[in-house]
Amino acid sequence: MSEEQTVSLVDVLEEDEELEEEASAVLAGSDSDHCSYPQGYVKRQALYACNTCTPKGGEAAGVCLACSYKCHEGHELFELYTKRNFRCDCGNRKFTDLQCKLHPEKEEVNSVNKYSHNFFGVYCTCGRPYPDPDDQVEDEMIQCVVCEDWLHGRHLGCVVPDCVELHEMICESCMNKNSFLWTYAAHLAVPGAAVQVKEEMGADESNTNLPNQKEKDDDVMEPSCKRSREEAEPSCRLKDLQAIGQKRVQSGAVFWPSAWRSKLCSCNTCQDNLSVAGLSFLSDESDTVLAYENKGKTNERTQQGHDPLMSALDNLNRVQQLEIIHGYNDMKTELKDFLQRFAAEGKVVTPDDIRQFFEQQQSRKRRRVDAERFYCT
Ligand SMILES: [Zn+2]
Ligand SMILES: [Zn+2]
Ligand SMILES: [Zn+2]
Ligand SMILES: [Zn+2]
Ligand SMILES: [Zn+2]
Ligand SMILES: [Zn+2]
Repeated sequence: MSEEQTVSLVDVLEEDEELEEEASAVLAGSDSDHCSYPQGYVKRQALYACNTCTPKGGEAAGVCLACSYKCHEGHELFELYTKRNFRCDCGNRKFTDLQCKLHPEKEEVNSVNKYSHNFFGVYCTCGRPYPDPDDQVEDEMIQCVVCEDWLHGRHLGCVVPDCVELHEMICESCMNKNSFLWTYAAHLAVPGAAVQVKEEMGADESNTNLPNQKEKDDDVMEPSCKRSREEAEPSCRLKDLQAIGQKRVQSGAVFWPSAWRSKLCSCNTCQDNLSVAGLSFLSDESDTVLAYENKGKTNERTQQGHDPLMSALDNLNRVQQLEIIHGYNDMKTELKDFLQRFAAEGKVVTPDDIRQFFEQQQSRKRRRVDAERFYCT
């Protein structure tokens, strides 16, 4: 066989370099040895729900990365990616049988934790599992930065922009619950994301394309400068934007460009309102998944696995991480079986064989890398 027909596992893995880096960053930002409970409500951490210990019908619970390894080995885990302000539940009152091996001393419940249907393994407005055995449509899942649910790209009610990984998304339901966000959306959000939803409304407004958006943004502070001194309070950017009153169709999810959070008004009134709405994190750039992942990348490469298969296959420690983040507890076994089958038959592993293996694995996981392929036109 020619050289081109064979490929090392490392070659294949390098194709997935970017994907693996992201995945490992998610894990590297969390501690894999110590239960995060003593840290209290962690700003952002990788989180898991255990279908074995806390199945549907009972109370929802989430456990930290270390507990997913040490206390729930062999259990059916839902990988929740990261969530904010969460305190590990492992072994607390919600777990009838299980005792946490890492930090057994816990309060009965963590009253500030927020739960959603994700903790029972279903996602999106359609309430489907992920991966979904009945769904043949290849579609990415995108996390809403407010409710932190994962939604199918096709269930967002808007056009998913190019390079979606550079944007933060707020789902329609969260937009409507916090209607002031629509004001910001008209000025700050990715234009066109919701445009084509309703083209025919407002016969008096022919310009739905948000012309000169950048210029208007820069002018925003101007009216406030002319305001009289009688108001003791400093100007409110949100009020100024409301006064400008740019039109935007108020339906569908909204995508926001990088650094949009820093453009939100930070006057006292707005800060109070954000706090009352439970949205104070929106004025905090370090709350973003991106900030968390960057932190993880910095902390990365402190430990190497000693599994013989892992060291034999060089880069595979990252795949091991990938396996964990996506709940592939049995991937290693499958990979071994897969390779042994070829060894037993005296066959050479071809690129197609290996690709097929990883495609089978990857078709089950939630990644953003497919974004461009499906949405760039
Ligand atoms: Zn824990
Ligand atoms: Zn469990
Ligand atoms: Zn535990
Ligand atoms: Zn859906
Ligand atoms: Zn949402
Ligand atoms: Zn304000």
